Amino acid sequence: MAEHFDVVIVGGGLVGASLACALGPLGIRVALLEAVSPRAEIQPSYDDRTLALSASSCRILQGLGLWDSVRENATPIREIQVREHGRPGLVVMDPGELGLDRFGHVVEARVFGAAVMQRLPDLESVQFSCPAEVTGIEIDEDQAVVDFLDENGAQQIRASLLVGADGARSFVRESLGIDSESHDYRQTAVICNITPEQDHRGRAFECFTPSGPFAVMPHVNGRCGLIWCVAAEDAGRMMELPAEQFLQLAQRRFGDHLGRFLKIGKRSSYPLHLVRALEDIRPRAVILGNAAHAIHPVGAQGFNLGLRDVAVLAELLAGARAAGPQADPGSIRLLQHYSAWRKKDQQGTIAYSDGLARLYSNPSPLAGTARTLGLLAHAFIPSLRRQLAVRAMGFRGRIPRLAAGESL
Ligand SMILES: Cc1cc2nc3c(=O)[nH]c(=O)nc-3n(C[C@H](O)[C@H](O)[C@H](O)COP(=O)(O)OP(=O)(O)OC[C@H]3O[C@@H](n4cnc5c(N)ncnc54)[C@H](O)[C@@H]3O)c2cc1C
Repeated sequence: MAEHFDVVIVGGGLVGASLACALGPLGIRVALLEAVSPRAEIQPSYDDRTLALSASSCRILQGLGLWDSVRENATPIREIQVREHGRPGLVVMDPGELGLDRFGHVVEARVFGAAVMQRLPDLESVQFSCPAEVTGIEIDEDQAVVDFLDENGAQQIRASLLVGADGARSFVRESLGIDSESHDYRQTAVICNITPEQDHRGRAFECFTPSGPFAVMPHVNGRCGLIWCVAAEDAGRMMELPAEQFLQLAQRRFGDHLGRFLKIGKRSSYPLHLVRALEDIRPRAVILGNAAHAIHPVGAQGFNLGLRDVAVLAELLAGARAAGPQADPGSIRLLQHYSAWRKKDQQGTIAYSDGLARLYSNPSPLAGTARTLGLLAHAFIPSLRRQLAVRAMGFRGRIPRLAAGESL
């Protein structure tokens, strides 16, 4: 007979592993299944990308016991500058306007992965299997039955609740018959580290260009994380350009806000799509993170949104647990509560990042005027700027306990 767990999480990337870290200390029995080893060069979640974590995400990570090891290699964001290439208007967002000294932190996804891998073995109620690729899912009235392949061949486990955190091309979403809609932005994000001549002083820069956003994030050891969204057809050429030429092009696009760019690290590329599931729950099953909503990186919202999914689901499961050992973690009422709670934040964040990505790649003069007016309005109207800052910090709508700095 296959082993039975309270929760099986498919996908041990940024979101799935965070959920395991949230549930482990509650004594909830969790099986975490991840297809690709965290040490593999091709690990899709824990790679070289720099992640801007909002203030609310940093609090959530604190509650998950991950923040202390992440913080050692995290850089505070003390100012955000937003501008459009070749047009007037500059918005400078200062966390001081909200009485704080930082918007959040920048951390490398790989560093986050290392912190998670250090934490998981301490959680006795979490069984982490990796590499373990899920190949089949059946849901019956009482449980989810999950087939996977590991180093010993075909395996099977059962759980009261199935969580799909297996990324934008989610096998779980497909197996549950949940439809999704997608949009190809025809852009590719080229990312790398750069070392500028001047100290970034915790400033993050977002510059909108006709091919897509160009962001420079403050990073450790005087470095910055560069995210440059280029037209999809130019991506191959940009990846293959000799380093010196790439650096010159980047410099021309960014200007001299940080002096000369001196050095560049390895480049990686990500084709950009919006993938949005039309539903997020089924009896005994829920999808979250990129499996439910993979969004454009403009505004740096994707993982922050996924972490808020984690915080809400963990809070509801903690509540069920507190009600007694016979409480069912896969009950449809709990899942409906989760879905209703998450709807507004998910819809708002998807609309925000999708709207920005489309508005700033629209070549029409009318859209250009709207953008300039929008930037000028944000530059001169403090209340608009504050709204933007609150979004950047991830504090909107009903805030889960972990994001408020409380324990579960
Ligand atoms: C260029 C770029 C920059 C970004 N910057 C930011 C930022 O600054 N801030 C921010 O908040 N977000 C950012 N994001 C978004 C962020 O990277 C995603 O939101 C995040 O990776 C989603 O994590 P996830 O765990 O849901 O999915 P993924 O990271 O895709 O992880 C899914 C995991 O599931 C595993 N898996 C898949 N199928 C199976 C299976 N069948 N069986 C077992 N395991 C499986 C995969 O191996 C993987 O480890 C950025 C994204 C990009 C592309």
